Amino acid sequence: MNKTPIAVAEGDGIGPEIMKATLQIMESAGASIEIHKIDIGEKMYLSGFPTGMDPKMWDIIRGTKAFLKAPITTPQGGGFKSLNVTIRTTLGLYANVRPCVSYFPYVATKHPEMDVVIVRENEEDLYSGIEYRQTPDVCSSIKIISRAGTEKIVRYAFEYARRHGRKKVTLFMKDNIMKFSDGLFHKVFDEIAAEYSDILNEHWIVDIGAAKLADTPEIFDVIVMPNLYGDILSDVAAQIAGSVGLAGSANIGEKGAMFEAIHGSAPRRANQNVANPSGLLLAAIQMLDHIGQSDTATTIHNAWLTTLEQGIHTYDIYKDGTSKTKVGTKEFGDAVVKNLGKKPETLKPVVYGKSGSVLIHKHTPTHPTRHLVGVDVYIFFRGELEEFFAKISHINVGPIRLKMITNRGVRVWPEGQPETFCIEQWRCRFLSDSGRTISQNDVVQILHAFDHVNMDVIRGEFLYTFDGKAGYSSAED
Ligand code: NAD
Repeated sequence: MNKTPIAVAEGDGIGPEIMKATLQIMESAGASIEIHKIDIGEKMYLSGFPTGMDPKMWDIIRGTKAFLKAPITTPQGGGFKSLNVTIRTTLGLYANVRPCVSYFPYVATKHPEMDVVIVRENEEDLYSGIEYRQTPDVCSSIKIISRAGTEKIVRYAFEYARRHGRKKVTLFMKDNIMKFSDGLFHKVFDEIAAEYSDILNEHWIVDIGAAKLADTPEIFDVIVMPNLYGDILSDVAAQIAGSVGLAGSANIGEKGAMFEAIHGSAPRRANQNVANPSGLLLAAIQMLDHIGQSDTATTIHNAWLTTLEQGIHTYDIYKDGTSKTKVGTKEFGDAVVKNLGKKPETLKPVVYGKSGSVLIHKHTPTHPTRHLVGVDVYIFFRGELEEFFAKISHINVGPIRLKMITNRGVRVWPEGQPETFCIEQWRCRFLSDSGRTISQNDVVQILHAFDHVNMDVIRGEFLYTFDGKAGYSSAED
């Protein structure tokens, strides 16, 4: 059988030690892989590659089916781009899959029944990296949620549930506040959930959902979330299951996949043979399943569970009473190798082989009728509302009138309240009378009018209706 080529990065800090143990276990279990090593991380950052990787490495990653990556150290000081974000977005690895399972009574946890898989959207949301300093003292970040991106991640979550015999998919979002962006995520979730009548579905506003996850994680099964909530809550989930050192994650795309532990490079623990290799090993197991070597994935996972049951533990999960032998990274790896072929007696044995083929998504764009009906013009102005209003209140172009001024989303004119605290960024909303369509030239005329009165325009946002419905929030929303 031809070996499957995989890219391997040993990373920084504890990375090389946990990678060595992981590769040794995979080799002993008969994994059919051909390793292509690549250099990434701290030394690449420091030798002048701002993304932490020599761009030539893309060819190696592209030429392999999967990328097994140990954690890296991002050097202190600004100007370094997150290598993880670069890899995920460049390769289109849209799904971040993090199983968070408790191994009670062998690993201490307050949640003995926990078995949750977090499916985090990996490419959109506030991670688009589109940020602006709009005035000397105001910055903003753009949150992007698209139908195409949401369809991919939600469908992935439901397919994952179906293929892994899971019963329920829960959505966490915050569409009571972000009615457009999280609202779209929720709408697409409802549409796709309707196609999976064999899987239960439910949704929670993320704040109460997070509280329930921290308190009673056993009520959840698969949870799908936009990027930021998923980033935060998958670490919380891994930690309350037992330890962040025990969780692996998969980053799945249509054209590639990357597998890594969820923890960092723990530099303080490096070169001491103490780090727990389990997170990276569980990521490697997900990788073997992904590349079709499910039997080997099953063998390794069961040997690893057996090792936990035998009380052979690294320092981070060692507890007097429950644990039997405190071991280092290498000895833990050796123990897993010894247990290859065994199944756990108390913990539930695992069986892989249900992942199936890579999902190829067909996006379903919508085609509403769209009309430009106005513009929000953002102004940098330091002063009082009355002074501001006096300078701009006369601005109008044909049927387009100033309808509202807001500050940080709060309406200050008409009918503002004297208590509202105002900052130096003002938003002026211009709308056409009776929803008449306007032209881009009309918007240019408005910008000219601001220029004429020496007002500093810092941003403009076109306002559209879609099938007659406003595609912009109002201050009252
Ligand atoms: P960290 O996860 O590296 O370590 C935090 C603490 O957790 C460590 O001090 C250690 O006590 C414990 N720990 C983590 N992994 C362990 C393991 N496998 N075995 C035993 N104990 C373990 O987080 P940090 O200290 O905030 O970050 C260190 C570096 O890692 C930073 O440079 C950060 O940028 C980087 N980082 C990289 C990744 C990645 O490459 N995916 C992810 C997170 C952080």
